[in-house]
Amino acid sequence: MSDQKIIVVGGGIAGLTAGALLAHEGFDVTLLEAHAQAGGCAGTFRRGPYVFDVGATQVAGLEKGGIHERIFRHLDWPQPKAKILDPACIVDLGDGKKPIHLWYQPEKWEKERKEQFPGSEMFWSLMNQLHKSNWLFANNDPVLPAQNLWDFQQLIKATRPGNFLSALFSRSSVADLLWLCSCSKDLRLRKFLDLQVKLYSQETIENTAALYGATVLQMAQAPLGLWHLNSSMQELSNNLLSCFCRDGGRLLTRHKVVGLVARDKKKLWNVNVINHKSASLQFEATDVICTLPPQSLLDLMSEKTGLLKNYRIRLEKLSEPSGAIVFYGAINRNALASDYSGHFQLIDEKFDSLFLSISQDGDGRAPLGQATIIASAFTDVDFWASLNEINYAQQKKIALDAIVTTLNLQLSIDSQKWLHKELATPKSFAKWTGRPRGIVGGLGQTPTTFGPFGLSSRTPIKGLWLCGDSIYPGEGTAGVSQSSLMVCRQLLSEYGLRLHLMN
Ligand SMILES: Cc1cc2nc3c(=O)[nH]c(=O)nc-3n(C[C@H](O)[C@H](O)[C@H](O)COP(=O)(O)OP(=O)(O)OC[C@H]3O[C@@H](n4cnc5c(N)ncnc54)[C@H](O)[C@@H]3O)c2cc1C
Repeated sequence: MSDQKIIVVGGGIAGLTAGALLAHEGFDVTLLEAHAQAGGCAGTFRRGPYVFDVGATQVAGLEKGGIHERIFRHLDWPQPKAKILDPACIVDLGDGKKPIHLWYQPEKWEKERKEQFPGSEMFWSLMNQLHKSNWLFANNDPVLPAQNLWDFQQLIKATRPGNFLSALFSRSSVADLLWLCSCSKDLRLRKFLDLQVKLYSQETIENTAALYGATVLQMAQAPLGLWHLNSSMQELSNNLLSCFCRDGGRLLTRHKVVGLVARDKKKLWNVNVINHKSASLQFEATDVICTLPPQSLLDLMSEKTGLLKNYRIRLEKLSEPSGAIVFYGAINRNALASDYSGHFQLIDEKFDSLFLSISQDGDGRAPLGQATIIASAFTDVDFWASLNEINYAQQKKIALDAIVTTLNLQLSIDSQKWLHKELATPKSFAKWTGRPRGIVGGLGQTPTTFGPFGLSSRTPIKGLWLCGDSIYPGEGTAGVSQSSLMVCRQLLSEYGLRLHLMN
């Protein structure tokens, strides 16, 4: 496939997956990454003896038949070592009642649910049926939303009679299903569901599509499950990168893409880049896969360089996702009142909720006997963007102090005992990941924007493709890998080729 030169913009999990799959098919692929390392939101950084996962801390899709496992199997490469998280998370609603444990074994989780949310089994049973129906569909690699005949054929091929149930609830929200199952008035259940679905959809249960919520709420249980990578999150990127390089792919770090120009007549693209030496470079490509949030295209292209007017308007109208605020801390384990490790969700006055990841002893993130503690929350990007330098520094300190206060209280930590403390705001994420204004997590998953109603990976501009967390099926390393597989299959089909991954 040496005639086709593919440029992948962005070396996060989406870009690495797309690059690795296409290089494996024999394409000439160059991956352009603005940062000094690959990984993006699923990367890591080091501070002295500590390794911090930048954003993602739990991985879905490593089980047999899961998307990461299928991709590594296809690439004939061992997947990174990981342990199943059991429980995947402990959710403390701050109401004085026993925290909710999301157990891995379905029977144990059912028992927990029955104790915690009596009378809600009809809701869970409906969610379970929907989830099974979704999974049947998703595992057949559908293309969503379909834009041409080939896409439509893939969609039909992926559909089974059992998907009828999903179709029935395609416009419903999680809250609609609660109502249908007469659980609407269970405020404790509502609070729990709100906290859990928001992690992935950025929306409350009123605004989260039921089909999406059904899967999110059952990701922690067998036969799926959430995993903790040995060493650090960077292992996922490192392994994808090894496959990419083995198959002849070329990664250029510190190469920031600053412009995409569609050269109509020769059906070629010019990709304009500024490298670490501030030199302007130009690359030629037959196809460009852009893994950045699609809003980035508004800066990278204009109508003069090929951005179609209607598409520009569509991009301008996309809802702006949230930003993230993330605390990275380290502590001696004996300074923790209990032998905490794993994932927790806590109520927080200032940030509504905090999602905690505490490293396991010996998992490579901190020296033995110490732990890293990461606490993240959603935040408004406009607020942080509006601050001048002095106000920004003040607000950052206020946010850091607020998170530390919550952690000291909830984990019974003596405030003097912290060995390391720092905070990332949307400004930090904008700098680290190049995401416009530090937006994270895709476009939200409401009944009118998820799946068939979302933004397509096939753009109306020939040779320009999208994948990443704004594209079906959405955020998370598993989600973006699924979108990368979808876009690679579409791209290959343009050249009369087929990419099929075994289940
Ligand atoms: C705080 C937080 C917690 C999360 N927790 C989890 C979790 O536990 N589990 C999970 O599965 N997911 C989690 N996620 C989501 C997950 O990390 C993302 O959905 C996923 O990693 C996104 O991958 P991506 O490749 O689409 O985008 P990104 O990771 O954003 O990668 C984009 C890449 O493009 C590069 N880039 C940007 N601009 C340019 C440019 N102009 N030129 C060249 N390169 C450029 C960036 O440097 C970056 O490497 C979390 C996210 C956050 C922010």
